Amino acid sequence: MEIFQKSIEEILNGFQVDVSRGLNDVQVLENEKKYGKNQFSPSEKVSIIKKILEALKEPMIFILLIAALITIGMNLYKYFQGLHAEFTESIGILIAIGLSVGINIIMEGRSQKAFDTLNSINEDIKVKVLRNGDIQYIHKKDVVIGDIVKIDTGDKVPADGRLIDTLQLKVDESMLTGESAPVDKDSDIIIKEPKTSLSERKNMVFAGTFVTYGQGTIVVTSIGDKTEMGNIAEELKSTETKSTPLQEKLDKLAKSISLLGIIAAGLIFSYELFKIYTSNSLSFDTIQNAFMTSIALIVAAVPEGLPTVVAITLALNIIKMAGSNALVRKLVACETIGSINVICSDKTGTLTKNQMTVIDIWNNGDLLNPSDLKSRFMIENFTINSTADINIQENSVKFIGNPTECALLKAFSETDCSREPAQCSNYSSSGTICEAKCRDYVSDGNNEVAVDYTDIRNAAEVIYQYPFSSEKKSMTTVTKEDGIYNVYTKGSPEKVISLCDKIIINDEVQDFTDELKEKINNEIIKLQKQAKRILGFSHRNIDEVKGEWNKIQNKLEDSMIFDGFVSIADPLRDDVYDAIEKCKSSGINIKMLTGDNIVTATSIAKQLNMVNEDSIIVEAQQIDEMSDEELLKILDKIVVIARSKPLTKMRIVNLLKKTGNVVAVTGDGINDAPALKNADVGIAMGITGTEVSKEASDIILLDDSFSTIVKAVEWGRGIYENFQRFIQFQLTVNLIAVVTVIVCEILGKELPFTTIQLLWVNLIMDGPPALSLGLEALREHLMEKEPVKRDANIITGHMLSRIIVNGIFIIIMMMLLINNNILGGNAQQQNAIIFTSFVLFQLFNAFNSRELEDESIFKNLLKNKAMLLMIGLTFILQIIITQFGGEIFRTVPLSLTMWLKVIGYTFTVVIFSELIRFFRRTFSF
Ligand code: ATP
Repeated sequence: MEIFQKSIEEILNGFQVDVSRGLNDVQVLENEKKYGKNQFSPSEKVSIIKKILEALKEPMIFILLIAALITIGMNLYKYFQGLHAEFTESIGILIAIGLSVGINIIMEGRSQKAFDTLNSINEDIKVKVLRNGDIQYIHKKDVVIGDIVKIDTGDKVPADGRLIDTLQLKVDESMLTGESAPVDKDSDIIIKEPKTSLSERKNMVFAGTFVTYGQGTIVVTSIGDKTEMGNIAEELKSTETKSTPLQEKLDKLAKSISLLGIIAAGLIFSYELFKIYTSNSLSFDTIQNAFMTSIALIVAAVPEGLPTVVAITLALNIIKMAGSNALVRKLVACETIGSINVICSDKTGTLTKNQMTVIDIWNNGDLLNPSDLKSRFMIENFTINSTADINIQENSVKFIGNPTECALLKAFSETDCSREPAQCSNYSSSGTICEAKCRDYVSDGNNEVAVDYTDIRNAAEVIYQYPFSSEKKSMTTVTKEDGIYNVYTKGSPEKVISLCDKIIINDEVQDFTDELKEKINNEIIKLQKQAKRILGFSHRNIDEVKGEWNKIQNKLEDSMIFDGFVSIADPLRDDVYDAIEKCKSSGINIKMLTGDNIVTATSIAKQLNMVNEDSIIVEAQQIDEMSDEELLKILDKIVVIARSKPLTKMRIVNLLKKTGNVVAVTGDGINDAPALKNADVGIAMGITGTEVSKEASDIILLDDSFSTIVKAVEWGRGIYENFQRFIQFQLTVNLIAVVTVIVCEILGKELPFTTIQLLWVNLIMDGPPALSLGLEALREHLMEKEPVKRDANIITGHMLSRIIVNGIFIIIMMMLLINNNILGGNAQQQNAIIFTSFVLFQLFNAFNSRELEDESIFKNLLKNKAMLLMIGLTFILQIIITQFGGEIFRTVPLSLTMWLKVIGYTFTVVIFSELIRFFRRTFSF
């Protein structure tokens, strides 16, 4: 019998789980042992042989391999002809291939690890379970078979499960079934047919699907690989690793440079052949030499390491960003976030702490402290018309669910009724809780025990619930007691007041006159001006209800009695003021799109110094009435949109994008998903965000904080600059290698570098030293500049001029060495001096590449330890190669004096570059 054919009782009995308490600790351990953890088995590792074969397919490696085979073939031929065969070159090339492949595999391994870590954080959702009689949050992977799990609007279902109860539950199962419309679920449905398709199993929910509406409770029936999603695990979504536009741009750049390098090498090869032919020196050796030099030149000119360096830089940086609480889900966001110029931000939780506390309660005509609240209607509204929970452990209070509702539960826990039922006043027409009533709530009948909110909730018979939504800005629950329906509504005060025609004042139900409404409104505005959020409460009793529940909400929420309102404080985050100042100085506009009221929102915007004399503050409704043209005229100046709905967000994002802005938008609700998807960078909230919004986002803020967005922008800009750094470094090496060889050819000089020497230079240019430039620390000036335009060329004019000027300087210095033996080495040493100088010029020039502007390179000299280490290691290797490289590298040991001369000579590139920087700083040209 299939699981969906079984009744709820059969399943619960099968797993021996008590539906009112969930599993106990012993059962959890047992079930975990028996059925395993709720995670997918890791995919099979690619074997090292496969990785090596894959790396050998890279065009550059392939060219080198062919070159090695040709030289080996030629020398074998010579050997068998009894001629002098020379295998050092071939061995050198094979070593270069080995190193290159090795470095590639290690780098790819590192970036794969980075993505695996990200995926595991991404996958890690919090699940609301009932265990040992308590509601608690656990990690998704810790959910076991038999667990009772609560699912709510916006949640991602953590495992497959049979529904035990449902309240208007709708689930988006498109990822499993392809069906885009949400499916209605119902725990009461009995399915007989064993072949019922997945989409028809309406009494079940499946891992990985999303709750788009309502609530439900499930008993977990399958986990990990055994879930329906596990069956199609390979199609699972994970962090997107496809190339970003900048990566593609850089790939193109690398290809164009490669093409130029190949053409240059081809020309040199032809010219060499021509020379050989005209000088009648045609021989195996001469052709082999010409061929090998051209190959080496291609290798040196082609920045084949660029894509790898870009990929690994991105990977390493996203790990660092995750450490700063910005979890990148889509690689592209890493770079886009650096060029955003508008942030549309939420207020609650992002700018504020989301630590809501009820400060005042207006009830029965008075403004009270929470501890003085006695209204039964308000208390039931706080506790029953809610989906939040508080988990009170010995020393800690954990809020689970909607923070506004948690604040209400907390406020309830401070009332007399909650503390000492015996102290409650007598029942009155205002609905004040009576002593007996309080005692009724206590499930064990012991009136010494404080009434818990769960006692009230459990004692109530909830008939129907209309969940809270940002559009309606209210929530309603209907309970039934002694044959009478109690309708409780809470929500934005405007909304709740509009539903009421009666009000309780001085324990009397009175007409809610316009005069009274104005008086209440004035009270509310006073509190809103102190940046407090106001929530209104109303109730109604009805004898008879006609019609289907989901169609009669408006009828129920009519002619209600206004019970009062609460003011809730939510302090600003400590670091948000500075973060906003940073945005301002870095050319980023901030717009606060909040669901809250205009007075509260304005007050917060003012506290954050977001408002100036030009600023426009509007309510969503006002802009709803405007045409796009009208809205565009004022869009730049709008800083606050109050009572904003998800559709408002979407419209603003689209208009901003249309006018050339690069827009980041934050969102937490299920209806924010379209705006998050549409934005250039969609940012979801890690703590309060629904799983739906996280799925639609590019970046998740693990701490929900606005200042983390600003940090992410800084990272984005830093990554971009780091790309520029190693591009600057690589291109200068390319230029020097190719031009020096060409100039030597033109001057009729012997080629200055051997193949193996060029391969070593290539390793420096494409390998770890270049990579370490991608790890440069963030510069202070990053947030003092305007954002980089999305379509700006990554090689700026400034960079190009530095590549050319420094390149020409090094080429001239190299030619002075080659042509004029300026360091005065003897003929034997000449080759070693030229080669060593060439390498040291690159190493010193790597320092020049660290600063993109005109700052001195000494200012941040010690900031990038990895770079210093890499350059230091390369320098030591160079000493070893020069002193002991002998035949292979065609070097001879140099004396200490000569070393000092070479170091001094090559250091001139730093002095030269510093002088230029100094003049540019001084005369700003
Ligand atoms: P922001 O958009 O700035 O983050 P928010 O997310 O709190 O603010 P919403 O959640 O859309 O905004 O809430 C909008 C309004 O709905 C609130 O100002 C409040 O009046 C009302 N509200 C919030 N939570 C609830 C709730 N659980 N039940 C009923 N009404 C609520």
